[in-house]
Amino acid sequence: MKEGDAKAKGRSSSGTHPAQHLFWILLLVLIGLLIWSPMQDEPAIPVSYSAFRSLVQEGQVDQVVIQGYEIRGTLTDPIERPVAGAEEPQEVQRFLTHVPAFGDDGLLPLLEDQGVEIRTEAESDFSWWLILLYGLPFLLVLLFFVFFLRSMQGQGQRMFSMGESRARAYERTDEATTFADVAGQAGAKRELEELVSFLKDPSHFERVGGEVPRGFLLVGPPGTGKTLLARAVAGEAEVPFFHMSGSDFMEMLVGVGASRVRNLFKEAKEAAPSIVFIDELDSVGRKRGAGLGGGHDEREQTLNQLLSELDGFDPNQGVVVLAATNRPDILDQALLRPGRFDRKVTVDLPTPADREAILAIHARRKPLSKDVDLSAIARSTPGFSGADLKNLLNEGALLAARRGHDEITQDDIDEARDKILLGLEREGMLLTEDDRKLLAYHEGGHAVVAAVVPNADPIHKVTIVPRGRAMGVTQQLPDRDRYVYSRDYLEDRLAVLMGGRAAEGLVLNTSTSGAEEDLRQASQLARKMVLSWGMSDAFGNLAPSSAQQEVFLGQDIAQRQEFSDTTAREVDEAVREIVASAFTRAVSILEENRDGLDRVADALLEDEEIPGSRVLELLGRNGTQDSPE
Ligand code: ADP
Ligand code: MG
Ligand code: ZN
Repeated sequence: MKEGDAKAKGRSSSGTHPAQHLFWILLLVLIGLLIWSPMQDEPAIPVSYSAFRSLVQEGQVDQVVIQGYEIRGTLTDPIERPVAGAEEPQEVQRFLTHVPAFGDDGLLPLLEDQGVEIRTEAESDFSWWLILLYGLPFLLVLLFFVFFLRSMQGQGQRMFSMGESRARAYERTDEATTFADVAGQAGAKRELEELVSFLKDPSHFERVGGEVPRGFLLVGPPGTGKTLLARAVAGEAEVPFFHMSGSDFMEMLVGVGASRVRNLFKEAKEAAPSIVFIDELDSVGRKRGAGLGGGHDEREQTLNQLLSELDGFDPNQGVVVLAATNRPDILDQALLRPGRFDRKVTVDLPTPADREAILAIHARRKPLSKDVDLSAIARSTPGFSGADLKNLLNEGALLAARRGHDEITQDDIDEARDKILLGLEREGMLLTEDDRKLLAYHEGGHAVVAAVVPNADPIHKVTIVPRGRAMGVTQQLPDRDRYVYSRDYLEDRLAVLMGGRAAEGLVLNTSTSGAEEDLRQASQLARKMVLSWGMSDAFGNLAPSSAQQEVFLGQDIAQRQEFSDTTAREVDEAVREIVASAFTRAVSILEENRDGLDRVADALLEDEEIPGSRVLELLGRNGTQDSPE
């Protein structure tokens, strides 16, 4: 669903604020003054003092204004006069001249004799140019301030609406999202349908004395459709829906988040029955007082406000709060207490059948060629979320367009999947013959081990075309989704990971930096086996730590070191043993299949990319392992 679908309507203030009007008015006035002030005494033409005197004597001057040394005057009738700078003589009625510095005692009597009207004005330096000169810096500061605040607040005129809830209220539209737009997620839908029927008819629940839970927490990995589900609830229930993201509460100023929470709930209560949806709840709802660098005042205040709002309304008032998060583990326990978010709705990664349904939904508006097999795509994309699948189809469409097809073919989609999983092909990378040989044996090593061990995922393809960050790839695609890993599977996986380095050593008697990623993955996996899954001989079925938690800000630091230094050393020893035995296993597999390895490496040097079936063929193992192709 596109963001715009829901026809979001801004409830928060729009337009300008008085202070902003003031600013623009000020600016206009200044500009007006600048234009107007020179116009006032525009056509005064400078004349020499002697010319001025003779004009007076001839009785042509009507009136003068004397200001300091400056005399401005008006003639009774305009006269033609040659003017400096102009070729033609010009018509002069208003003129300007200067009294000599030593004064002219005879001027005043002369003017009086001729009956000229005399006005005097106080000498002053007052000028609009000076105002501008002094005013400009202030103006600039003001401008800077306004733009700075604006950019700080993101787009729009939020500067003056900090405390407002900024929730977007969704209008009921014909194209509203409904449960039909969400594929799979049967469990989540079932829970939410109950909520929908409550919102449609709250009295029905009251009659039987039932209380509807007020808080639903949608929990699941990113891209699995949590936001989509929340929109679907709104679409189904046809009630006002107030949508805010946790990060919207977070502002630079302490107290703003809390007041937004207050306003959000106020609006929702006024519109009851209604739904409040807080997306990315973890960004406000983190454990308080945890993490590095002490508490975060603003967040704590916002969270406290949220907690008190959750408590502060009667469940039958008709406001239901939905929230979504992909990190339930870092949420403050207080949020999960009964009476708050007491219903957890799990939104999981889709099963293969669900993936097919999701693909079908997103393929609705795309022209697919007949050869596209959605069910095969679904099977070859384990671990893809709904958002990933949508992206896959989109990438496929882009590729089809680039290739000038009218329809998206299976080939386009396969290519798009490789691009997503492995990165783009890197073109123009020149490798020496030696490098290519190293690569071919490295990948050949992975491939041969993968083909021989009993529990490995089928090989999809092997390539020595550099893609993304990898120089070559042996791509395995699981034939089914795995939810648990057996020890046999993990040990085979480790052997496959070590296959690359083993082949380098066996054939070329060297080791390369290309194995870095393999080694990193292998030691990570082995550590997990020891620490979390109780799969080492040294520890037996003990798991020295429940989990090797990543250090991240929401966790208490003190929690991390759970075992003694001695245990730590023993863990390292056990990890080393697991990796070492995987390596030995890889080497012996390759030694046994030395001819096969050579054939695979040669094929790679020749074709650069070979399908998994070809590997099996070259090893004379047809049918032992079936590739998804
Ligand atoms: P989340 O909020 O869980 O991170 P979203 O709801 O934002 O994920 O999902 C992103 C997009 O992926 C959705 O807009 C939708 O197009 C697609 N999507 C995810 N799950 C599904 C699903 N079960 N059915 C259909 N589309 C889905
Ligand atoms: Mg989301
Ligand atoms: Zn490798």
